[in-house]
Amino acid sequence: MELSLGMGRERKKVVVVGGGVAGSLLAKSLQFVADFTLIDEKEYFEIPWTSLRTMVEPTFGERSIINHRDYLTNGQLIASRAINVTDTEVLTAEGRLIPYDYLVIATGHSDRVPKTKTARLNQFQEENQKIRSANSILIVGGGPTGVELAGEIAVDFPDKKVTLVHTGTRLLEFVGPKAADKALKWLKSRKVEVILERSVDLDNISDGCKTYKTSEGETLTADCHFLCTGKRVGSAWLKETVLKNCLDVNGRLIVDANLRVKGRKNTFAVGDITNIAEIKQGYLAQKQALVAAKNIKLLLAGGRESKMEAYEPHAIMAIVTLGRKHGVAQFPITTIGGRIAGLIKSEDLFVGKTRKQLGLEPHILKD
Ligand SMILES: Cc1cc2nc3c(=O)[nH]c(=O)nc-3n(C[C@H](O)[C@H](O)[C@H](O)COP(=O)(O)OP(=O)(O)OC[C@H]3O[C@@H](n4cnc5c(N)ncnc54)[C@H](O)[C@@H]3O)c2cc1C
Repeated sequence: MELSLGMGRERKKVVVVGGGVAGSLLAKSLQFVADFTLIDEKEYFEIPWTSLRTMVEPTFGERSIINHRDYLTNGQLIASRAINVTDTEVLTAEGRLIPYDYLVIATGHSDRVPKTKTARLNQFQEENQKIRSANSILIVGGGPTGVELAGEIAVDFPDKKVTLVHTGTRLLEFVGPKAADKALKWLKSRKVEVILERSVDLDNISDGCKTYKTSEGETLTADCHFLCTGKRVGSAWLKETVLKNCLDVNGRLIVDANLRVKGRKNTFAVGDITNIAEIKQGYLAQKQALVAAKNIKLLLAGGRESKMEAYEPHAIMAIVTLGRKHGVAQFPITTIGGRIAGLIKSEDLFVGKTRKQLGLEPHILKD
């Protein structure tokens, strides 16, 4: 069935912009059924939540940073930023115009990271060196990134003084207060100093500076700092395009039940960039990717729009790691902390599972 789609007549052009959690799975799933192109600003897919572990253990990145070419064996790969989209084409920063019949926007978040896997691994070596050579570390931001980084450092480098400053009244505001409380208790038990309801004056800090001012005028000292203040939704590039009226006030693309962008017949959006009313998580971005892939395959095969699958939003479920063995997990009806939550995610961080979903060996086989 899959191989015959689009054969015998000119193959339709399918373009996916964004090779993150959702885009990589879409690419794997659509590469053989159309004239397929993946546009991503990097040559690789990095499993986003593994970066905190890779900072304390750089070799972890060998498995969690995956060259797009490892799973995208059939389509075209364009490693460049998309900067514009028209009704028929995507324009990249390198000046290429990529025509499409069907388009999927999956640019959840954008980050200024190196273009190649080797350069990204080198960057992790540098960050690891920064941690190793510091006695005291300031982490700015108490969302999942700040909390997970504090946990990784506290477990792997228990002698370092870690201070985490967060503007909110509690950590982890994207999940419930019980989960936040469990994370706070765990961090304190590992001697992480958590300062809530303060911000750090970011305008006057730089690498090498060792004193930091808080919003209340206190001075904090640390040998280095990490900013974990969250990434913007990756939709800035759409603001002057034909899709500008499809963005909501938060910069998210408005989609219908079939994951098509508001008012558009041949443009889908999946993952964190959508306005779907549910928690923004990678496992949900993957579920959306599979629904969009199915709908595109149906349309490519000449199927009726009314037969497209609808995406059902899910109840809240999220796991935050606390070092290599512990975590806090919020499920729809309960919240758990400690070893059991850690067993689900904290050791392998779903790397083996994610690699398998892309058709790769969970572990890299050595010759
Ligand atoms: C600390 C932390 C822990 C997390 N833990 C989990 C977890 O345990 N489980 C889970 O399911 N989720 C987790 N998440 C959430 C998860 O990472 C996101 O929900 C997921 O990455 C969203 O996927 P996406 O494909 O929509 O976007 P992303 O994964 O952000 O991918 C977007 C891609 O688009 C590219 N891009 C952006 N703009 C452009 C452009 N203009 N041109 C070309 N390419 C572009 C980016 O480089 C990137 O490759 C965690 C997040 C954080 C921060």
